[in-house]
Amino acid sequence: MTEGVDVVTPLESVVTFWDGPDEGRRVPLGGSSVQHGTAVFEGIRCYASAEGPALFRLREHMSRLLNSARLLGIAHDYGLDRLCALAVGAAAEAGLADCYVRPVLLAPDPYLSISLDRLRFTVVTEVWPVPPATGGRPAAIDLTVSPWRRPSPASFPPRAKAVGMYVTSALAKTGALRAGHDDAIQLDPGSGRVAEATVANVFLVRDGALVTPWLTDGLLAGITRDSVLTLARELGVPATEGPVEVADLLAADEVFLTGTASELVPVASVDGRAYPARRPVFAALSDAFRDAVTGKGFGHLGWLTPVPGTGGPE
Ligand code: PMP
Repeated sequence: MTEGVDVVTPLESVVTFWDGPDEGRRVPLGGSSVQHGTAVFEGIRCYASAEGPALFRLREHMSRLLNSARLLGIAHDYGLDRLCALAVGAAAEAGLADCYVRPVLLAPDPYLSISLDRLRFTVVTEVWPVPPATGGRPAAIDLTVSPWRRPSPASFPPRAKAVGMYVTSALAKTGALRAGHDDAIQLDPGSGRVAEATVANVFLVRDGALVTPWLTDGLLAGITRDSVLTLARELGVPATEGPVEVADLLAADEVFLTGTASELVPVASVDGRAYPARRPVFAALSDAFRDAVTGKGFGHLGWLTPVPGTGGPE
Protein backbone atom coordinates (compact mmCIF):
# COMPACT_ATOMS: atom_id res chain seq x y z
CA MET A 1 0.00 0.00 0.00
CA THR A 2 1.58 3.26 1.08
CA GLU A 3 5.30 3.58 1.75
CA GLY A 4 6.41 1.52 4.68
CA VAL A 5 3.14 -0.37 4.89
CA ASP A 6 3.67 -3.88 3.58
CA VAL A 7 0.27 -4.66 2.16
CA VAL A 8 -0.25 -5.22 -1.56
CA THR A 9 -3.27 -3.27 -2.76
CA PRO A 10 -5.20 -4.81 -5.70
CA LEU A 11 -4.44 -2.71 -8.77
CA GLU A 12 -8.12 -2.26 -9.62
CA SER A 13 -8.69 -0.41 -6.34
CA VAL A 14 -6.05 2.21 -7.14
CA VAL A 15 -7.31 5.18 -9.15
CA THR A 16 -4.80 6.98 -11.41
CA PHE A 17 -5.21 10.53 -12.73
CA TRP A 18 -3.06 11.99 -15.44
CA ASP A 19 -2.95 15.72 -15.71
CA GLY A 20 -4.05 17.62 -18.85
CA PRO A 21 -3.01 16.43 -22.33
CA ASP A 22 -1.45 13.24 -20.97
CA GLU A 23 -4.88 11.99 -19.90
CA GLY A 24 -5.23 8.24 -20.46
CA ARG A 25 -1.51 7.51 -20.74
CA ARG A 26 0.56 4.89 -18.97
CA VAL A 27 4.04 5.27 -17.51
CA PRO A 28 6.46 3.63 -19.98
CA LEU A 29 8.81 1.07 -18.46
CA GLY A 30 11.60 2.57 -20.55
CA GLY A 31 11.32 6.00 -19.01
CA SER A 32 13.78 7.90 -16.86
CA SER A 33 11.59 8.11 -13.75
CA VAL A 34 11.10 4.33 -13.57
CA GLN A 35 14.60 3.32 -14.63
CA HIS A 36 16.61 6.01 -12.85
CA GLY A 37 14.36 7.30 -10.08
CA THR A 38 14.17 10.80 -11.56
CA ALA A 39 10.85 11.85 -10.05
CA VAL A 40 9.66 13.61 -6.90
CA PHE A 41 6.48 12.80 -5.05
CA GLU A 42 4.24 13.35 -2.06
CA GLY A 43 1.97 11.21 0.10
CA ILE A 44 -1.12 12.94 1.48
CA ARG A 45 -3.84 11.46 3.67
CA CYS A 46 -7.51 12.12 3.17
CA TYR A 47 -9.55 11.50 6.32
CA ALA A 48 -13.27 11.12 6.93
CA SER A 49 -13.36 14.24 9.11
CA ALA A 50 -16.21 15.69 11.16
CA GLU A 51 -16.87 18.08 8.22
CA GLY A 52 -16.70 15.37 5.54
CA PRO A 53 -13.63 14.01 3.71
CA ALA A 54 -10.64 16.32 3.99
CA LEU A 55 -6.99 16.32 2.94
CA PHE A 56 -4.57 16.83 5.82
CA ARG A 57 -2.06 19.67 5.39
CA LEU A 58 -2.42 19.70 1.61
CA ARG A 59 -0.61 23.00 1.01
CA GLU A 60 2.36 21.96 3.12
CA HIS A 61 2.68 18.71 1.18
CA MET A 62 2.49 20.49 -2.17
CA SER A 63 4.99 23.12 -1.02
CA ARG A 64 7.35 20.27 -0.18
CA LEU A 65 6.76 18.77 -3.65
CA LEU A 66 7.73 22.09 -5.23
CA ASN A 67 10.77 22.27 -2.97
CA SER A 68 11.83 18.71 -3.90
CA ALA A 69 11.61 19.65 -7.60
CA ARG A 70 13.61 22.80 -6.96
CA LEU A 71 16.32 20.93 -5.02
CA LEU A 72 16.79 18.59 -7.99
CA GLY A 73 16.51 21.37 -10.57
CA ILE A 74 13.46 19.83 -12.24
CA ALA A 75 11.67 22.36 -14.49
CA HIS A 76 7.88 22.15 -14.72
CA ASP A 77 4.78 24.30 -15.14
CA TYR A 78 3.09 23.74 -11.78
CA GLY A 79 2.27 26.26 -9.09
CA LEU A 80 1.00 25.62 -5.58
CA ASP A 81 -2.68 26.33 -6.28
CA ARG A 82 -2.76 24.08 -9.32
CA LEU A 83 -1.10 21.22 -7.46
CA CYS A 84 -3.58 21.54 -4.61
CA ALA A 85 -6.49 21.58 -7.05
CA LEU A 86 -5.18 18.40 -8.74
CA ALA A 87 -5.09 16.53 -5.41
CA VAL A 88 -8.56 17.71 -4.39
CA GLY A 89 -9.89 16.73 -7.84
CA ALA A 90 -8.28 13.29 -7.68
CA ALA A 91 -9.62 12.59 -4.18
CA ALA A 92 -13.08 13.83 -5.17
CA GLU A 93 -13.17 11.69 -8.31
CA ALA A 94 -11.95 8.60 -6.45
CA GLY A 95 -14.86 9.11 -4.05
CA LEU A 96 -13.06 7.60 -1.07
CA ALA A 97 -13.35 9.30 2.32
CA ASP A 98 -10.29 7.50 3.73
CA CYS A 99 -7.51 7.40 1.20
CA TYR A 100 -3.88 8.11 0.45
CA VAL A 101 -3.20 10.54 -2.38
CA ARG A 102 0.16 10.27 -4.09
CA PRO A 103 1.05 12.93 -6.67
CA VAL A 104 4.23 12.13 -8.57
CA LEU A 105 6.03 14.69 -10.71
CA LEU A 106 7.55 12.34 -13.27
CA ALA A 107 8.95 12.15 -16.77
CA PRO A 108 6.15 10.50 -18.77
CA ASP A 109 7.92 9.93 -22.07
CA PRO A 110 9.71 6.75 -23.28
CA TYR A 111 13.11 8.40 -23.10
CA LEU A 112 15.99 7.06 -21.02
CA SER A 113 17.92 10.30 -20.67
CA ILE A 114 19.31 11.28 -17.28
CA SER A 115 19.64 14.95 -18.28
CA LEU A 116 16.87 16.49 -16.27
CA ASP A 117 16.74 19.45 -18.64
CA ARG A 118 15.89 17.17 -21.57
CA LEU A 119 13.00 15.48 -19.80
CA ARG A 120 9.43 16.73 -19.69
CA PHE A 121 7.76 16.48 -16.26
CA THR A 122 4.07 16.08 -15.50
CA VAL A 123 2.00 15.19 -12.45
CA VAL A 124 0.34 11.80 -12.18
CA THR A 125 -1.77 11.24 -9.08
CA GLU A 126 -2.72 7.89 -7.63
CA VAL A 127 -5.40 7.48 -4.99
CA TRP A 128 -5.19 4.41 -2.75
CA PRO A 129 -7.89 3.23 -0.39
CA VAL A 130 -6.94 3.22 3.32
CA PRO A 131 -8.92 1.35 5.98
CA PRO A 132 -10.78 3.79 8.27
CA ALA A 133 -9.11 4.38 11.65
CA THR A 134 -10.32 2.02 14.36
CA GLY A 135 -9.42 4.34 17.22
CA GLY A 136 -7.04 1.76 18.73
CA ARG A 137 -3.33 2.38 19.14
CA PRO A 138 -0.85 0.67 16.79
CA ALA A 139 1.41 -2.03 18.26
CA ALA A 140 4.82 -0.87 19.43
CA ILE A 141 7.67 -1.80 17.09
CA ASP A 142 11.31 -2.92 17.49
CA LEU A 143 14.03 -0.89 15.83
CA THR A 144 17.70 -1.36 15.08
CA VAL A 145 20.32 1.20 14.10
CA SER A 146 21.09 0.53 10.43
CA PRO A 147 24.61 0.34 9.01
CA TRP A 148 23.15 2.17 5.98
CA ARG A 149 23.29 5.89 6.67
CA ARG A 150 21.23 8.61 4.98
CA PRO A 151 22.70 9.96 1.72
CA SER A 152 25.39 12.57 2.19
CA PRO A 153 24.36 16.08 1.14
CA ALA A 154 27.48 15.89 -1.02
CA SER A 155 25.79 13.11 -3.03
CA PHE A 156 22.12 14.01 -2.94
CA PRO A 157 19.91 16.71 -1.39
CA PRO A 158 18.51 14.63 1.50
CA ARG A 159 15.49 16.90 1.95
CA ALA A 160 14.19 16.15 -1.54
CA LYS A 161 11.44 13.52 -1.51
CA ALA A 162 12.70 11.83 -4.65
CA VAL A 163 11.95 8.33 -5.92
CA GLY A 164 15.61 7.29 -6.26
CA MET A 165 16.41 8.18 -2.67
CA TYR A 166 14.21 5.39 -1.38
CA VAL A 167 16.72 2.71 -2.37
CA THR A 168 18.70 3.63 0.77
CA SER A 169 15.50 3.30 2.83
CA ALA A 170 14.89 -0.09 1.21
CA LEU A 171 18.39 -1.30 2.12
CA ALA A 172 17.99 -0.22 5.74
CA LYS A 173 14.47 -1.59 6.10
CA THR A 174 15.31 -4.94 4.47
CA GLY A 175 18.37 -5.41 6.66
CA ALA A 176 16.32 -4.62 9.76
CA LEU A 177 13.59 -7.11 8.83
CA ARG A 178 16.14 -9.85 8.05
CA ALA A 179 17.65 -9.33 11.51
CA GLY A 180 14.22 -9.74 13.14
CA HIS A 181 13.39 -6.05 13.74
CA ASP A 182 10.48 -4.03 12.35
CA ASP A 183 12.33 -0.97 11.07
CA ALA A 184 15.65 0.85 11.23
CA ILE A 185 17.02 4.13 12.45
CA GLN A 186 19.30 5.73 9.86
CA LEU A 187 22.12 8.03 10.90
CA ASP A 188 23.37 11.23 9.37
CA PRO A 189 26.44 10.29 7.30
CA GLY A 190 28.62 13.16 8.51
CA SER A 191 27.80 13.52 12.19
CA GLY A 192 26.78 9.92 12.94
CA ARG A 193 23.78 11.31 14.82
CA VAL A 194 20.23 10.02 14.55
CA ALA A 195 18.50 11.25 11.39
CA GLU A 196 15.22 9.32 11.03
CA ALA A 197 13.66 5.92 10.40
CA THR A 198 13.38 4.53 6.86
CA VAL A 199 10.08 6.25 5.98
CA ALA A 200 9.30 8.15 9.17
CA ASN A 201 10.74 10.75 11.51
CA VAL A 202 11.75 9.93 15.06
CA PHE A 203 10.91 11.56 18.39
CA LEU A 204 12.11 10.87 21.90
CA VAL A 205 10.77 11.93 25.26
CA ARG A 206 13.05 12.60 28.23
CA ASP A 207 11.73 13.94 31.54
CA GLY A 208 8.43 14.98 29.95
CA ALA A 209 10.07 16.97 27.13
CA LEU A 210 9.93 16.10 23.44
CA VAL A 211 13.05 16.08 21.26
CA THR A 212 13.42 15.35 17.55
CA PRO A 213 16.55 15.51 15.34
CA TRP A 214 17.10 18.89 13.73
CA LEU A 215 16.90 19.20 9.95
CA THR A 216 20.71 19.70 9.80
CA ASP A 217 21.15 15.95 10.23
CA GLY A 218 20.02 14.79 6.78
CA LEU A 219 16.36 13.98 7.37
CA LEU A 220 13.19 14.63 5.44
CA ALA A 221 11.21 17.56 6.85
CA GLY A 222 8.16 15.45 7.72
CA ILE A 223 4.77 17.11 7.74
CA THR A 224 3.66 14.80 10.57
CA ARG A 225 6.85 15.77 12.44
CA ASP A 226 5.88 19.41 12.09
CA SER A 227 2.30 18.61 13.15
CA VAL A 228 3.53 16.85 16.29
CA LEU A 229 5.82 19.76 17.18
CA THR A 230 2.87 22.15 16.74
CA LEU A 231 0.50 19.95 18.76
CA ALA A 232 3.10 19.68 21.54
CA ARG A 233 3.12 23.49 21.76
CA GLU A 234 -0.69 23.47 21.82
CA LEU A 235 -0.65 20.96 24.70
CA GLY A 236 2.11 22.77 26.61
CA VAL A 237 4.62 19.94 26.16
CA PRO A 238 8.16 21.37 25.84
CA ALA A 239 9.48 20.41 22.39
CA THR A 240 12.83 21.04 20.72
CA GLU A 241 14.64 20.17 17.51
CA GLY A 242 18.31 19.46 18.06
CA PRO A 243 21.22 17.06 17.69
CA VAL A 244 20.24 13.55 18.81
CA GLU A 245 22.96 10.98 19.51
CA VAL A 246 22.19 7.25 19.46
CA ALA A 247 22.93 7.35 23.22
CA ASP A 248 20.13 9.95 23.66
CA LEU A 249 17.74 7.57 21.96
CA LEU A 250 18.78 4.67 24.20
CA ALA A 251 18.45 6.85 27.33
CA ALA A 252 14.93 8.09 26.43
CA ASP A 253 11.75 7.41 28.41
CA GLU A 254 9.64 7.12 25.24
CA VAL A 255 10.43 6.86 21.53
CA PHE A 256 7.98 7.06 18.64
CA LEU A 257 7.92 7.50 14.87
CA THR A 258 5.82 9.84 12.73
CA GLY A 259 4.76 9.67 9.09
CA THR A 260 1.77 10.34 6.88
CA ALA A 261 1.03 6.69 6.14
CA SER A 262 1.80 5.20 9.55
CA GLU A 263 0.85 8.28 11.64
CA LEU A 264 2.30 8.04 15.21
CA VAL A 265 3.84 4.65 16.03
CA PRO A 266 5.27 3.80 19.45
CA VAL A 267 8.69 2.14 19.66
CA ALA A 268 9.09 -0.82 22.02
CA SER A 269 12.86 -1.16 21.74
CA VAL A 270 16.00 -0.03 19.93
CA ASP A 271 18.62 -2.78 19.54
CA GLY A 272 17.25 -4.60 22.55
CA ARG A 273 16.97 -1.52 24.81
CA ALA A 274 13.30 -1.77 25.85
CA TYR A 275 11.25 1.32 26.73
CA PRO A 276 8.54 1.35 29.39
CA ALA A 277 5.07 0.34 28.13
CA ARG A 278 3.62 3.48 29.75
CA ARG A 279 3.90 6.31 27.24
CA PRO A 280 2.04 9.35 28.56
CA VAL A 281 3.49 11.93 26.15
CA PHE A 282 2.99 9.67 23.13
CA ALA A 283 -0.59 8.96 24.23
CA ALA A 284 -1.43 12.66 24.62
CA LEU A 285 0.08 13.56 21.24
CA SER A 286 -1.51 10.60 19.55
CA ASP A 287 -4.96 11.63 20.80
CA ALA A 288 -4.34 15.23 19.75
CA PHE A 289 -3.22 14.08 16.29
CA ARG A 290 -6.36 11.96 15.90
CA ASP A 291 -8.49 14.98 16.85
CA ALA A 292 -6.61 17.19 14.39
CA VAL A 293 -6.91 14.83 11.39
CA THR A 294 -10.58 14.08 12.02
CA GLY A 295 -11.53 17.72 12.64
CA LYS A 296 -12.63 17.08 16.23
CA GLY A 297 -10.16 19.64 17.50
CA PHE A 298 -7.43 22.11 16.49
CA GLY A 299 -9.60 23.55 13.71
CA HIS A 300 -7.90 26.94 14.26
CA LEU A 301 -4.73 25.46 12.76
CA GLY A 302 -6.44 25.29 9.35
CA TRP A 303 -4.96 21.89 8.50
CA LEU A 304 -7.95 20.34 6.70
CA THR A 305 -8.92 20.97 3.06
CA PRO A 306 -12.43 19.70 2.32
CA VAL A 307 -12.92 17.38 -0.64
CA PRO A 308 -16.22 18.26 -2.31
CA GLY A 309 -18.63 15.69 -3.68
CA THR A 310 -17.64 12.78 -1.43
CA GLY A 311 -20.07 13.44 1.36
CA GLY A 312 -18.29 16.60 2.44
CA PRO A 313 -19.49 20.18 2.01
CA GLU A 314 -20.06 21.01 -1.68
N1 PMP B 1 11.20 10.48 6.31
C1 PMP B 1 11.07 9.79 5.16
C2 PMP B 1 12.30 9.29 4.48
C3 PMP B 1 9.79 9.56 4.61
O1 PMP B 1 9.66 8.88 3.48
C4 PMP B 1 8.66 10.05 5.29
C5 PMP B 1 7.29 9.81 4.72
N2 PMP B 1 6.92 10.79 3.81
C6 PMP B 1 8.84 10.76 6.48
C7 PMP B 1 10.12 10.96 6.96
C8 PMP B 1 7.67 11.35 7.20
O2 PMP B 1 7.19 12.47 6.49
P1 PMP B 1 5.65 12.88 6.50
O3 PMP B 1 5.29 13.04 7.92
O4 PMP B 1 5.60 14.14 5.74
O5 PMP B 1 4.91 11.76 5.85
